[in-house]
Amino acid sequence: MVNRLSNRQIVLNLLRLGQPISRPQVAAALSISLPTAGGMVKQLLNSRLLIETGRSKSSGGRPAQLVQMNPDYAHAIGLTISSRLIQALLVNMAGQVIWEGETVASADSVDEVTSQAASQVSAALARSGDMPVSGIGVGISGVVDIDSGLSRSFPQLRDWKDVPIGEMLSEQFRLPIVVHNEVQAATLAELHYGCGRQTNNLLYLHLGKGIGLGLVSDGRLLRGSHGHAGEIGHTVVDPRGPVCYCGNYGCLESLASPPAVVRDAIAAIRQGVASSIATGRLDKLDEVTIQDVFTAAAKGDRLATNLLTAAGEHIGGAVANVANIFNPEMLVLGGVLAGGPPILVDAITRVFSARLLPVLVEKTAICVSQIRQQACGLGAATAIFDRLLEEADLFDRALT
Ligand SMILES: [Zn+2]
Repeated sequence: MVNRLSNRQIVLNLLRLGQPISRPQVAAALSISLPTAGGMVKQLLNSRLLIETGRSKSSGGRPAQLVQMNPDYAHAIGLTISSRLIQALLVNMAGQVIWEGETVASADSVDEVTSQAASQVSAALARSGDMPVSGIGVGISGVVDIDSGLSRSFPQLRDWKDVPIGEMLSEQFRLPIVVHNEVQAATLAELHYGCGRQTNNLLYLHLGKGIGLGLVSDGRLLRGSHGHAGEIGHTVVDPRGPVCYCGNYGCLESLASPPAVVRDAIAAIRQGVASSIATGRLDKLDEVTIQDVFTAAAKGDRLATNLLTAAGEHIGGAVANVANIFNPEMLVLGGVLAGGPPILVDAITRVFSARLLPVLVEKTAICVSQIRQQACGLGAATAIFDRLLEEADLFDRALT
């Protein structure tokens, strides 16, 4: 297969695996001679992007000198802005989270959300002390225009239209800003630091209030011509299903997102279905949450089990259709539903495998995200590092 990644991306991917690497490994990864790789490593050491970290264990020959990413080369803030959570991470070049601050989003107005976000950034900057911060990477829910840093829409806030979140943060903090969609930012983190770090072809399925898909092909995040690729939540899986807020009937989100599962639970209980989902709170059904459904399912409640199984089956079928087209090495599940009881992930896995082409079943791994809560911020911070290194042009210079 032709590898379309640049030298910079190939070496970065190697370094982001977190293990010290040797010059022969760099030479092999880039298909260049050992002396050329040695010259490149020397220049990257001089630029402080790499640091020496001892020698490999000898297997007969001379032990190879090892290098790794210098975690202190740069720091960035990864900011998550969702309808559930506002979170800032202070991240070093090696992808380690040095500090994390978060608050529950009070999504009543544009001003409130943006001021909550700014105060989390201020707190992260205060914790950075003497460490220079290279920029703020933003991962935000809803539709985003990456080039202009405009947040075009935001879940549950009708007044939110074309908010210049990138410009606002840049003016306030005088730092470079990169704005991504929340799902695409999390996909970058899964690719570099999560389950997918050994893969080049990946689907990341975000199962939050909204359902979105991040697609990585040959090591690159696919954004689509306008940056909106991956809207699997609005693919129709049952034309006779409930109406979706986008106006269509039977979108995946209208059948299988947490609000859809909760809506169906409440409707069933109102009809008199016996369930422990709202035990003792039948007069407060509006307060039922997806966590109540999880808790009931974990105790074997039949309604909760059936609702989560049905949601998982819809999700598994929808993402199998995409996997049949993209042939990923791995499907990563993230978001609140990925943290639900095993029956839900089991249902996704069962239908996903059943709908995949048989030849793909054994070759397509499924993984539940291990960095779920931090994925968006980590990926957003990584985008700052990528831009920094692209502008510094260290890699191409090191090879000339
Ligand atoms: Zn829809």
